[in-house]
Amino acid sequence: MSGPAVSGPAVSGPALSGPASSGGPAKRRAVFLDRDGVVNCLVPDHTGAFESPLCPEDVRLTAGAAQHIQRLRQAGFLVMCVTNQPAAAKGTVSVDRIDLVHRRVIELLEEGGAHIDGGRVCLHHPAGVVPPLARVCQCRKPAPGMLLSLAEQFGADLSASWMIGDTDADMGAGEAAGVATILVLNPDSAPKRSRAHRPGPVAGDLGEAVTALLAGAGRQDAQAEGRVAEAAGNVVEAATGEGALSTVCILAGGLGSRLGGYVDQTPKPLLPVAGKPFLLHQLALLASYGAERAVLCVGYLGDMVEATIGPERFGIQLAYSYDGPKLAGTLGAVREALPLLGRRFLVLYGDTYLRVDYRAFDRQWKASGLPGAMSVLHNQGRWDRSNVEYADSLVVRYNKGSPSEGMDWIDYGLGGLTAAALERVPRTEPDLSELYAALARRGELFGFEATERFYEIGTPAALEETGRFLETINS
Ligand SMILES: [Mg+2]
Ligand SMILES: [Zn+2]
Repeated sequence: MSGPAVSGPAVSGPALSGPASSGGPAKRRAVFLDRDGVVNCLVPDHTGAFESPLCPEDVRLTAGAAQHIQRLRQAGFLVMCVTNQPAAAKGTVSVDRIDLVHRRVIELLEEGGAHIDGGRVCLHHPAGVVPPLARVCQCRKPAPGMLLSLAEQFGADLSASWMIGDTDADMGAGEAAGVATILVLNPDSAPKRSRAHRPGPVAGDLGEAVTALLAGAGRQDAQAEGRVAEAAGNVVEAATGEGALSTVCILAGGLGSRLGGYVDQTPKPLLPVAGKPFLLHQLALLASYGAERAVLCVGYLGDMVEATIGPERFGIQLAYSYDGPKLAGTLGAVREALPLLGRRFLVLYGDTYLRVDYRAFDRQWKASGLPGAMSVLHNQGRWDRSNVEYADSLVVRYNKGSPSEGMDWIDYGLGGLTAAALERVPRTEPDLSELYAALARRGELFGFEATERFYEIGTPAALEETGRFLETINS
């Protein structure tokens, strides 16, 4: 499966686990690591694109790589390296050179005190020019061949194992092999994550991924889904430190049908307002309150949103969650994005411009200990129909559809949810407003007073008005 010149190091790790039970020796858990962009840094090629190092002297480990691998081994995991190296198949360098580079990575890890239990290098490429390497194979990721053959060789239990990588191909290989996956968002490999929507957890680097993995894997009997969700929460929490705003979930998938012809070719979040796509105004505002991470739930023309806005704006890391073929409603979209959102997140619509202190909202909501939060404006029928009864930092009643007596506040459009809050309504409930109503009924919805009127772009008239406002504040 791997080329003859590049074989993985021999097994010399700790003995396979524990005393043999009556059912034979317990199978060990393994972590399969991608190499380039995860264990060692990518290097710019002659075009400036970041690629695998092709000279031993260009090899640099990523921050703390040896130490993070040691943490995995100390927790009892087998650590394996699985890497695609097609440069020889393409005729760029020799197989010997690839071998030297690979040995250099292993050597630097050993110098750092980390041992890799085993590995595989796929030297093939289907569009290569050098026989016999130029061929379709079962080992090139996203095929699972390297993971499957290592699992067989080492007796690893795939259902309790993990893949950590920085590209779609890594995630594909992990999924095909049936292991849990963590995607490392190395900015240098962003072009290899062209389809950024991934249902699994993400991490900023190998260290964060290992921290999340160890937290999630600590629960011995957890099912794969549980491990992944647990890890996702940890990763996101680690990625947003004490001072940062909670991850922001932006619901940007609506059809925008009230806008008629405006949205024939352009999704609502990209409509030009005061000289640029509306979403950029919203992201700049969030950045000014310390947002570091946002998840865009996209649907209608979602590809165009991702292609236009990209993976990062104003220092905010952006992830994209795509609505399935049938629209799942606002709450369905949030559920779909949950692995990217983590345990606590803010929620707002992609067509609103909300002048509210996002930091104060987030901080006071956290301090309340409640699972949900909603910002409210003392409306008294001025802007739209009042739909909230509010008192003393608590939303007492909320009814979007049919407001009643005693409601003279209005839902201002910024919400907050914990993952646990989603369990307050049936999994089939499509509507976010029903979840807020349920939380209010249970006395679990924190209320935060907004004071400024809101702007949105849901109708042609609102679009024009918001445009005038943004031109004023940006001039
Ligand atoms: Mg990689
Ligand atoms: Zn191969």
